[in-house]
Amino acid sequence: MKNPYFNPLKKHHRPDGFQNNYRSFRGKRLRELLRWRWQAWRAGHPRPMREAIPVVAPDLAFIHGNAQAGRHMQPAATWIGHITVLLQVGGLNILTDPVFSERCFPVQWAGPKRHTPPGLTLAQLPRIDVVLLSHNHYDHMDEHSLVSLATQRGGPPLFITPLGHRHWFARRGIHHVVELDWWDTHVLPETDRSLRIPVTLTPAQHWSARTTTDALRSLWGSFVVRSPDCHVFFSGDTAYSKDFIDIRQHFARDHTPEQGGGFDLALLPIGAYEPRWFMKDQHCNPEEAVQIFQDLGCKRAIAVHWGTFQLTDEALDEPPRALRTALHRAGVCESTFAVLAIGATCPVSSRLHSVTTDHQSGESPSSPELVTI
Ligand code: ZN
Ligand code: ZN
Repeated sequence: MKNPYFNPLKKHHRPDGFQNNYRSFRGKRLRELLRWRWQAWRAGHPRPMREAIPVVAPDLAFIHGNAQAGRHMQPAATWIGHITVLLQVGGLNILTDPVFSERCFPVQWAGPKRHTPPGLTLAQLPRIDVVLLSHNHYDHMDEHSLVSLATQRGGPPLFITPLGHRHWFARRGIHHVVELDWWDTHVLPETDRSLRIPVTLTPAQHWSARTTTDALRSLWGSFVVRSPDCHVFFSGDTAYSKDFIDIRQHFARDHTPEQGGGFDLALLPIGAYEPRWFMKDQHCNPEEAVQIFQDLGCKRAIAVHWGTFQLTDEALDEPPRALRTALHRAGVCESTFAVLAIGATCPVSSRLHSVTTDHQSGESPSSPELVTI
């Protein structure tokens, strides 16, 4: 099948789909998949858990107060589970890869089952303005969640996706969709309650597939959200690559010290990385997540893509331990790359002096207490 977006001048475009910038992804062959499953079965993987996944009740008063705060919104991120995060920036409520279903699989009677419930239910969410969808894997693109959000009270959010998803949404009656290629920007306009926010799709080292015959047909990616009060990087799924150095360079002009410095917050994956021979081209491990954090030049990060679905061989609770070791080795303070409890909200310092002043004068919602583990 032909790629309708094909542009021979773009090196990540292929006549039949897309490819990574630095390491071409080749779909795993059936014998490799069987080898992994056989080795995992013989070794007794996934390894058993040692400690419970931390979960806290969400601070609904803060989240909903903040959702209504408009330009006085306190920049904040609430971890809902796996890679689903509620970002509150620039007066908008933005969800990343919303997955609220019990299983991340084409059917709900098989496939990886949730170990931990969502930190917020769909019904507990404030009205969502924007959904960022990184790619079409089932642990990121959950039909039930997307369709539910499209029918939320107050009208559907804007769904921003990489190229190749518009028809999937249209078949479900959802038309409020913007598709982006890598480095394309969609500007969310300024309104009386929100700031002007450019959203850019940026590369990631990953792949896509929804069925056994559509690998690499739709694009995948990461996102840069440049809200004037908070610049956020959302990785989606990614392995380590030089893409993150490129991303830092691309936005360097916005990240001078006079303009508030580098990314204020990154949402980076730390789970689903073993065995390495099978996963290293598609998922980073915690050590590589720290390298990505440093390559991007982030002020702080929140660890995501762990603790929710058992997808690979490492224990579900192992990634934070491996992250601590990696941070120690890299000389990065643990509090700058935070491991949150599911349901916890992380407030982020605003880049805007005026908002900081308002906050200090008590006009913006008071920050919740940060619950990390
Ligand atoms: Zn994926
Ligand atoms: Zn994933």
